[in-house]
Amino acid sequence: MKPETLFYIIIAIIIVSFIIDQALDYINAKHFNDPLPLELQNVFDEAEYKKSQAYKKERYKISILSSSVSLIATLLFFFLDGFAYVDGLARSVSNNEIVIALVFFGIIMITSDILSTPFSYYSTFVIEEKYGFNKTTRKTFFLDKLKGWLMGAIIGGIILGAIIWFYQATGKNFWLYAWGLVTLFTILMNLFYARFIVPLFNKQTPLEEGPLRSKIEKYASKVGFTLDKIFVIDGSKRSTKANAYFSGFGSEKRVTLYDTLINDLDEEEIVAVLAHEVGHYKRKHIIFNLFLAIITTGFTLWLLSLFIGNPLLSEALYVSKPSFHIGLIAFGLLYSPISGISGLLMNYMSRKFEYQADDYAKKTFAAEPLISGLKKLSKNSLSNVRPHPLYVFAHYSHPTLLQRFRNLKK
Ligand SMILES: [Zn+2]
Repeated sequence: MKPETLFYIIIAIIIVSFIIDQALDYINAKHFNDPLPLELQNVFDEAEYKKSQAYKKERYKISILSSSVSLIATLLFFFLDGFAYVDGLARSVSNNEIVIALVFFGIIMITSDILSTPFSYYSTFVIEEKYGFNKTTRKTFFLDKLKGWLMGAIIGGIILGAIIWFYQATGKNFWLYAWGLVTLFTILMNLFYARFIVPLFNKQTPLEEGPLRSKIEKYASKVGFTLDKIFVIDGSKRSTKANAYFSGFGSEKRVTLYDTLINDLDEEEIVAVLAHEVGHYKRKHIIFNLFLAIITTGFTLWLLSLFIGNPLLSEALYVSKPSFHIGLIAFGLLYSPISGISGLLMNYMSRKFEYQADDYAKKTFAAEPLISGLKKLSKNSLSNVRPHPLYVFAHYSHPTLLQRFRNLKK
């Protein structure tokens, strides 16, 4: 195959995936004005529903603009030999392939993040602000960015550096070592994310003694679940939107409740949300997802090992000197349709898991408080209660409010 052919295959992948995304957004947006389904009429009153529609429209517009700018920037970068230019820049810094790769990715990541920052700034300080969601200060916004970059540089740098080092030392077999390292890292992240990463961004405090804590403990002991680590996180530092999640496993398992959730829901509803989270754990969704992520990583790395030595990958991006990092970029782009399809499967499975967790909450606690809790959460975040089924199929990791409502009412 000629390098130009591969170049145009990559361009086609980028353009087709842009078109698919835009088409999905468009058919979804066409239904923003649909009337509320009967079962959900008590979620929004007339004025609130109007407000939620206006909110969705504003977000849709900014997303069209931002993805178009990103597409144009990407295409310009490809057609103006951007990769060769950045590769040259990185090579002027060092002769060490690992350092070159790290500088190369650093430049690409930071540039693309800077390009997207005006849009996230506008979303946060104009749109979210206008609808009363935003609580972030400009200082927090930019500090978050800096911390994100720093963390990406450290974690990404160590992993990428090690993978290239494995490649230099073991050739084609590097993927096995890389798989081992990424697996170890994934497990550690799952275990210690809440303990070591979250505190960089938020304050977490143990849920204080009181009626809520005793209700939670009573439920947990009823279903035979050790739950001594219940934390409240200051989500209200950034947004009024509420959330709760479960993380870790074994003795590191813990539940994190947003302070906004405690504000918005009553105690019964919070316990119901928690019962749903316990359901994920009891049904082994957490271990299953971890296992699946490890298998997927192994497959991807193995596939990468088959192609990475081929100079065609670098030539396709018009970089004359073949290298691991350019090969990795080309491979990543060619692999994106496959990861798109596996993403669809993961979303499908995730939605199944949500039903199972809801069923668990219904069986071990009650359906009504979960329904009313979910309704409140939808209302308070002005979420889309009428997404298009195709859009749900492609993008939703959770069933829609209506689907969950019908399932819980069964
Ligand atoms: Zn869930």
